[in-house]
Amino acid sequence: MKELSVVVVVADGLGDRPVPSLGMKTPLEVVDFSPIADILSKSSIGLWDPIQPGTRPGSDTAHLALFGINPLSNYPGRGPFEAIGAGATLRPGDVAFRGNFATVSEDLVVVDRRAGRKILEAKQLVEYLNKNIGEIDGARVEIYHATEHRVAVVFRGGNLSDAVSDTDPHVEGVRVPEVAPLTSSEPAARMARIVNVFTRRVHELLKEHPANVRRSESGLPPANIILLRGAGMMVKYPKLQERRELKLEKAVAISATALVKGVCALLGFETVTPEGATGGVDSDLMAKARAAVEYYRRGYDLIYVHVKGTDAASHDGNPEAKVAVIERVLKAVSYVVDRVDLGKTVVAFLGDHTTPVTIRDHTSDPVPVMLYAPGVMADGFTKLSERDARRGSLGRLRNAELFGVLMDYSSRVEKFGA
Ligand code: ZN
Ligand code: ZN
Repeated sequence: MKELSVVVVVADGLGDRPVPSLGMKTPLEVVDFSPIADILSKSSIGLWDPIQPGTRPGSDTAHLALFGINPLSNYPGRGPFEAIGAGATLRPGDVAFRGNFATVSEDLVVVDRRAGRKILEAKQLVEYLNKNIGEIDGARVEIYHATEHRVAVVFRGGNLSDAVSDTDPHVEGVRVPEVAPLTSSEPAARMARIVNVFTRRVHELLKEHPANVRRSESGLPPANIILLRGAGMMVKYPKLQERRELKLEKAVAISATALVKGVCALLGFETVTPEGATGGVDSDLMAKARAAVEYYRRGYDLIYVHVKGTDAASHDGNPEAKVAVIERVLKAVSYVVDRVDLGKTVVAFLGDHTTPVTIRDHTSDPVPVMLYAPGVMADGFTKLSERDARRGSLGRLRNAELFGVLMDYSSRVEKFGA
């Protein structure tokens, strides 16, 4: 059997629920599907639970599952993935925390857990700390700014542990606690010592920093400490190319979102951000479509296109914007479909999870999936809504199962048994 190319297009947070301002239809039920109606009618459709019913996926866990890794048994917590989303490249054994710039008094009592939340100087403070903190007990420290008051802090250097408590007391009006090891192991004790030194050093460096002096003078809470929580130790994921049950060599992920690019890179994808692709609702989706066709023509086995704008519109609670982004995604999908050989290609279009505009956050609702492959059971639908998907022949797949099905339709899976 000759292996087929696989093209996967994800509109982030695509799934939705009935929206009052759309007459109790979902965004997918009002979009114009005509650009992909033809391939849709030749496809099997169905539903995918990215993790499992009742478990709300993050984009990181959803993408692990999308590419065949069950995150329920292989996820180190949010710390490392926050760091990846903020631009870090992590190695197995690194320990990463989520962190907040915060305001403490002279005796380290927490006055504001978010230092006013809007910290225009955050990038500058992070740079200053990265230049001046140096190594602590042989461990390198890297701080990454995420958004507003949020940062990720990475510790690297043999024999670390994520079995330590938080320095974030989660309430205001109490002293910043010393970190304690949560096990009796030597790495946990060492990690606790390192984090305690880190916290004191950050405070020493920040309390007199000119940006904070200015903030205090203009009545803003100074960002004079970083509070840490949710330590996680980066695990090693098998790359696509290393999975013995799979025949797959060249994979590319086309995305402008650091978190998605980071997850894909861990799994063995090359990652590409075409010029004009922003990760926002204004992103140049045709640039992504052109890149997808280019990699297809270069013979890549798996071409992944990720569009973030649908999720951004959903978090904004804006159904009209979501409809508009989906319609632009469909045109991009149609551009790709018109330029590939459908006799030798598997094409999937889906969401990585549901982000209802009414909820403005991710929910566990299953997402609609379109799966085209030569010889697939054609369901004859010309639209792909949450409601239609419930009647499709693909049924309801869960977690890493969808990837297995995609790989099998592309003849890339080893037989199980004789
Ligand atoms: Zn997502
Ligand atoms: Zn989201």
